Amino acid sequence: MAIIDKLKQLVLSYSQPPRYSDEELEELQCPNCGHAFKGNYCPICSQGAGDGHITWKWVGKSILDVWGMDTRSLPNTLLQLLWRPGHLISDYISGHRQVCYKPVNMLFIVALAYVVIMQIIGHEVGIVDVELAGEDLEGYNKMIFASYEWLVAHPGWAMMILTMIMILPTLIVFRFAPRHSRLTLPENIFIQIFMSTLMLIIAFTISVSNGITIFLIPLYYYICYRQLFGYTFWGTTWRLAVCFLVWLILTFYVIIAVLVLAVPQYESNNPFLATFFGIVETTLATALLIAIPLSVAYLISRKTAKRRQQPKL
Ligand SMILES: [Zn+2]
Repeated sequence: MAIIDKLKQLVLSYSQPPRYSDEELEELQCPNCGHAFKGNYCPICSQGAGDGHITWKWVGKSILDVWGMDTRSLPNTLLQLLWRPGHLISDYISGHRQVCYKPVNMLFIVALAYVVIMQIIGHEVGIVDVELAGEDLEGYNKMIFASYEWLVAHPGWAMMILTMIMILPTLIVFRFAPRHSRLTLPENIFIQIFMSTLMLIIAFTISVSNGITIFLIPLYYYICYRQLFGYTFWGTTWRLAVCFLVWLILTFYVIIAVLVLAVPQYESNNPFLATFFGIVETTLATALLIAIPLSVAYLISRKTAKRRQQPKL
């Protein structure tokens, strides 16, 4: 039954953060500050335990240190993000800060790689030919095309803005989840920073087929939210559908608000007031549209959470 034990171990390691052993550590003296300590790093000056004379091993380690070579390495973290995304995020927000590469740094390294690789394989990243469109534009329109051009050139920031829109629905719809209930805004920001990186990795598949990308985005959000919040298949699916609906409405709101700002109100006597009321109307309509699905999801989730807390008879 060795294979079954191995499988059990694999499944267990899938949802658990990496273990660290503290057995058989010998006392060392730090070559940097002279402090005697046990462990991998000096607690006074933080120099590594093995760092003394410069050896060939040290030369190699220094070069590889750009990516790290342990669980905190970039390749290892990217693999974890693909293999156990929800568990990785869960580990991180539960306080296991050493399980992975720094998430914000990782996002911008992946974004840089995205731009470089897309240029090498000659895949057009933009949707509109910005240089042509931007030629005879003035005022607001020019500004909007300039921002669009900037976002296309900075996919890290663009992906971060797109995923951050998920924070509001996630906060409300997953507030009473079996795991990680009542997450704070900073915790949610970090969830979406991880998701931005994951979505950028998925965006590489655009060069193969748009169909695969559009299929992978909801699939990975599903895997991640299921592992992170612990709802069942249907519990995760309908809640995520509500989140995506709200995300769509909010994204359209941003586009419409930008258009209201961009289109000059020629017929109106007071263009400033016309624009102002245009924005107010759009904002109110959007708030009403998202309030309905969000409050329904909130109330159902609160009720099921109360039922879960009651002891079974
Ligand atoms: Zn020291």
